[in-house]
Amino acid sequence: MNRRLTAATTPAAGRRHPRHGERISLRLWGVRGSLPTPGPATVRYGGDTICFELIVGGNRVVVDCGSGGRALGRALMAEGPLDFDILFTHSHLDHVCGLPFFKPAYHGGSHVRLWAGHLKDANAHREAIERLMSPPLFPVKPTALTGCRFRQFHAGETIVLPCGLAVDTIALNHPGGSTGYRFSHDGAVVCVITDHEHGVPEIDAAVTDFVRGADVMLYDAAYTDADYGHYRGWGHSTWEEGISLATRAGVRLPVMIHHDIYRTDEALDEIQAAAQRLMPGVVAGFDGMLIKI
Ligand SMILES: [Zn+2]
Ligand SMILES: [Zn+2]
Repeated sequence: MNRRLTAATTPAAGRRHPRHGERISLRLWGVRGSLPTPGPATVRYGGDTICFELIVGGNRVVVDCGSGGRALGRALMAEGPLDFDILFTHSHLDHVCGLPFFKPAYHGGSHVRLWAGHLKDANAHREAIERLMSPPLFPVKPTALTGCRFRQFHAGETIVLPCGLAVDTIALNHPGGSTGYRFSHDGAVVCVITDHEHGVPEIDAAVTDFVRGADVMLYDAAYTDADYGHYRGWGHSTWEEGISLATRAGVRLPVMIHHDIYRTDEALDEIQAAAQRLMPGVVAGFDGMLIKI
């Protein structure tokens, strides 16, 4: 089996579909947590909040639509008819704030399905977006999202997208809930574990099983062990816990994401260097990062 895996630094543009032989490609459009952080201190890793694009066996799936979704949406509009799914981890602002600026959502010819699994009621995700896009918070009404349809599931279920792709899900430890995702195709596996706090033994064990053997794991590394004490209970994890999880679960490439809003490029360089001393190859995710399996 081809186990090739490459992480490239190419800018976010160009070819949209994988070459023959690529099983999953993953592009990071936003890796910052909590709030967009533009400015000279975040130029290299980026300041946009969470948005990832996967091409899984030729099918596009997007995870979250934070402020990184703005650039993704513009890139997608160049492709013509759009039919894909956005799987939301949860409804916090840093994961949904790009949706009102996501051009395909307003395009009547689009078929964009918005999935969420962290809420109890079938309509709760739609209602959350309606509150976000309501006066006096936002001038455009949610009825303008003519390209979108809302879909609901319960975290822990395996969902089957209209393209036929089955995606495993898991409930994570986060205020209000969050959903982790596991994408598989032809032996390649990518997991997204964000907005998750370690430390609950039964959840930690379930997450370990969930990501076992993954080629790539995007992991909530908002904090470090040194500063975690100030943020216990806030619903996020540390890069050290990410490496520990990757080691015991046999994950090949942990990618640290959901960077803290005060983490500068230099600070992330230092964290990545420290992490690589424990696990060579681990990387801090950055806007535009492209990973192919
Ligand atoms: Zn977040
Ligand atoms: Zn959150």
